[in-house]
Amino acid sequence: MARGGDQSWRPGESDGQPEERTAQNSRAKMVKETQYYDILGVKPSASPEEIKKAYRKLALKYHPDKNPDEGEKFKLISQAYEVLSDPKKRDIYDQGGEQAIKEGGSGSPSFSSPMDIFDMFFGGGGRMARERRGKNVVHQLSVTLEDLYNGVTKKLALQKNVICEKCEGVGGKKGSVEKCPLCKGRGMQVHIQQVGPGVVQQIQTVCVECKGQGERISPRDRCEICGGAKVTREKKIIEVHVEKGMKDGQKILFHGEGDQEPELEPGDVIIVLDQKDHSVFQRRGHDLIMKMKIQLSEALCGFKKMIKTLDDRVLVITSKAGEVIKHGDLKCVHDEGMPMYKAPLEKGTLIIQFLVTFPEKHWLPPDKLPQLEALLPPRHKVRVTDDMDQVELKEFDPSEQGWRQHREAYEDDDDGPRAGVQCQTA
Ligand SMILES: [Zn+2]
Ligand SMILES: [Zn+2]
Repeated sequence: MARGGDQSWRPGESDGQPEERTAQNSRAKMVKETQYYDILGVKPSASPEEIKKAYRKLALKYHPDKNPDEGEKFKLISQAYEVLSDPKKRDIYDQGGEQAIKEGGSGSPSFSSPMDIFDMFFGGGGRMARERRGKNVVHQLSVTLEDLYNGVTKKLALQKNVICEKCEGVGGKKGSVEKCPLCKGRGMQVHIQQVGPGVVQQIQTVCVECKGQGERISPRDRCEICGGAKVTREKKIIEVHVEKGMKDGQKILFHGEGDQEPELEPGDVIIVLDQKDHSVFQRRGHDLIMKMKIQLSEALCGFKKMIKTLDDRVLVITSKAGEVIKHGDLKCVHDEGMPMYKAPLEKGTLIIQFLVTFPEKHWLPPDKLPQLEALLPPRHKVRVTDDMDQVELKEFDPSEQGWRQHREAYEDDDDGPRAGVQCQTA
């Protein structure tokens, strides 16, 4: 794959701060416009996984079930995801923007329905399945990395439609269902409207009495529990077993626990795990990654350090005297990563990236420096001759100098040269 910047963390790279690397990646990716990325709240350099995760969170938040007033937003999220999740469409969008997507192929923009995208993503089975079965209900369950490491059972209270017990889904007394008198069973009403002298217009609307059903229950026969709705809203507690090694975004299915509707097989409840960020560990597959700060003396002379694991054990790691650890070096501990799903006795690797803290300026009295130098590897001798220019070395602050914009100006022609000369005056 040619797409760069898919990972903010790469084993093997050992220079510089990881944060800087991410910034470089985003700078390297040039796109015409960022609207779709903005809708999903990701950078143009986002990996397919990041895009998936962003869609997952937003789609659940703005789904009409949970947020009926945000239909337009739900649609935009789904359109942005449809484009950015398809490598071909994403390339077209990156190069030509929304215009190119709309012109792409046959001419008219053909986005799938937001509900179909949602169902496909969360495994709802699409429109066909939805017509024969009741609606699936998707819920997000927030979990910690500790939960996924140790496993946990969580109780979740759900509201769901249940067939009314009193009337058994009829909506009233048995035999009380009659053909709707208003629309005569057609489910539609026809209105004649005069729109001008001698001009009438026929307008068809869904029948207000039976709401398109074609049949109704007369008010005095209606079930007093459900009021003729055939279902009641009930609270149900489900127990979600989060197993060791499960991961962010994993779905747990409760078959047939969705909303009930008369004459339909009930849909499923789908629980989607949403892992909160951890303050120490970052997960990558089965592996855990952490950063550890060490002092320069520790880097050079060795150390013992403690690591608290996700199941509250304490690991002691040792760097032997004489073993030098450089800034950014990676070391690992086998079998201290995440447990594997369905085989929790097997574990991934714990990877530690060391960040060496150098001492502050003037930490050592100048008269002690020769002692230190005598111990360190010898420095390179330099011979300065008269034809060389001795210049002053100053602090450089990238944010003050508009340095970043300066760099970007080279990569983005539209911006033209700006902040161009500042670097050369120093
Ligand atoms: Zn009832
Ligand atoms: Zn009717």
